[in-house]
Amino acid sequence: MTKNNNRRFYSLNDYFKDKFGEKIYKVSLDGGFTCPNRDGKISRGGCIFCSDSGSGEFTGDRIKTITTQIDEQLIFLKDKIGEGKVIAYFQNFTNTYADIEYLRKMYYEALEHPKVIGIAIGTRPDCLDEDVLILLKEINDKYLLWVELGLQTSDDRIAKLINRGYEYPIYEKAAENLRNMNIKFVAHMIIGLPEEERGGIIKTAEDIIKSGAWGIKIHSLHIIKGTSMETLYKKTPFHIFSLVEYVELVVTILRLIPKDMVVHRVTGDGKKDEVIEPIWSLNKRKVLNEIEKELKRRDLY
Ligand code: SF4
Repeated sequence: MTKNNNRRFYSLNDYFKDKFGEKIYKVSLDGGFTCPNRDGKISRGGCIFCSDSGSGEFTGDRIKTITTQIDEQLIFLKDKIGEGKVIAYFQNFTNTYADIEYLRKMYYEALEHPKVIGIAIGTRPDCLDEDVLILLKEINDKYLLWVELGLQTSDDRIAKLINRGYEYPIYEKAAENLRNMNIKFVAHMIIGLPEEERGGIIKTAEDIIKSGAWGIKIHSLHIIKGTSMETLYKKTPFHIFSLVEYVELVVTILRLIPKDMVVHRVTGDGKKDEVIEPIWSLNKRKVLNEIEKELKRRDLY
C-alpha cells in the first residue's frame, strides 16, 4: 500500500487530493429509480438486507428534482464544502434501470450543476446493457464517472441465500465490459452475511481484485428493521461478527489489495433507530479507529 498523507491505505480522499488537490464531498441523490429485484422482473422481495429506501439511507428526497436535491445538500454541507466541488452520487435502488432518455436526463441534470465535477452511479451488474454502456462511455469521455456494483459476495450459494438475483459470471461480464470501455467501477462487498465464513469473504475480496475494479467498498452487514434479513435472523439467528473479527478481516483484505486500488469505505453507515445488529457498527468513529490501530499495530501500509 502507498504511504499517502500518512494514511495506511489509498482512500477516496487520497484519490481526490491526488487528482484535484483538495477534498471533494459527495451528495447522495435519489433519481426516482426502482430495482428489478423488487419490481417483479427478477423478484419482489429484493436482496434480504435491503431496506425500503433501496439501500440508501441518507439520500435526497425522490420527489424533488436532482438540482433541488443537490442544492439542499449543499446548504446542509456549506460550512464543510465552502468553495469546493462535489460528486453527485446516484445511490439508492438501481440507477441504470430505466429508459435510456430518462437516465440521460438524470445524469446530465446532475453534471450541469455548477458545483458538480462528476457522478457516481450505483447499480446492479445485470442492468448494464449496451445502450447504458454507450451512454456511460459518452459521459466518461467528458467527466469524472464511476459505477458502483452491488456484488456483496462472489459465492453464488450465499448470493442465493440473500436473494441477490444474479450469478457471479454476470458480475464478471459487466466488469469486463466496463474495463474495455475504460469506465471505472467500484465493487461493494459485505462482511458478515449469513453462512459466509472467513474464507469466502477473503475470496470475494480476491475476486474483486481479479475483476480489475478501480475501487472497493467494504461494509459490515447491517440487519435493518423491517427487512427480510431481520425476519431470517429472528427465526434462525446466525453468527454476528464481533468488532474484533470485523477489524481483523478488513485489515486482512486491505493487505491483499493493490496499492492503487481506491478504498471507498471500510465500514457502513446505518441509522441508529433502524440497525438491529451489529450494534458496534453504529459507532463508526470507533470502527475506523480500531482498523487504524490494527494497521498501526501490524505496521502495515
Ligand atoms: S439490488 Fe440494490 S436496490 Fe435492488 S434489492 Fe438489492 S440492494 Fe436493494
